[in-house]
Amino acid sequence: MDEHFVQGIVGGVLNRHKDRTLDKKRIQTLMVEIAANIDVANHYTNVKGLAKDNPLSIEMWKGWDGKEEPLTKEYLDYWKCDLCGDHTHEVDYDYLGSGTNHLKCELEYQNEYNAHLDKGKTEQIEIPFPKED
Ligand SMILES: [Zn+2]
Repeated sequence: MDEHFVQGIVGGVLNRHKDRTLDKKRIQTLMVEIAANIDVANHYTNVKGLAKDNPLSIEMWKGWDGKEEPLTKEYLDYWKCDLCGDHTHEVDYDYLGSGTNHLKCELEYQNEYNAHLDKGKTEQIEIPFPKED
């Protein structure tokens, strides 16, 4: 793959996060996104031949600006919420949970799970009110 192309990918991803705090979670996100973007780019360049023979602009298959179409199938397949099945490539990172899932979906899932556990608890310790005569 063309060196400048890789630089473009990494630069594009970093640029998208430029105003964010670079904490542990953000770094993990960046690692995943850069790897995914390079993977998608590989699919693309493998199909199209040498990158230098067919100069690709980083905007051609993007995803980080969400403006230009079309997004590749691989890209969309990657950016998918496991819980609701919707694509999450345009979801702000603040609203993503682990991986590519919606934070909202994960919280709902967690809440339902907790509610389920709580329900089991209360059923076990439930004590009937004494009857008043
Ligand atoms: Zn979801």
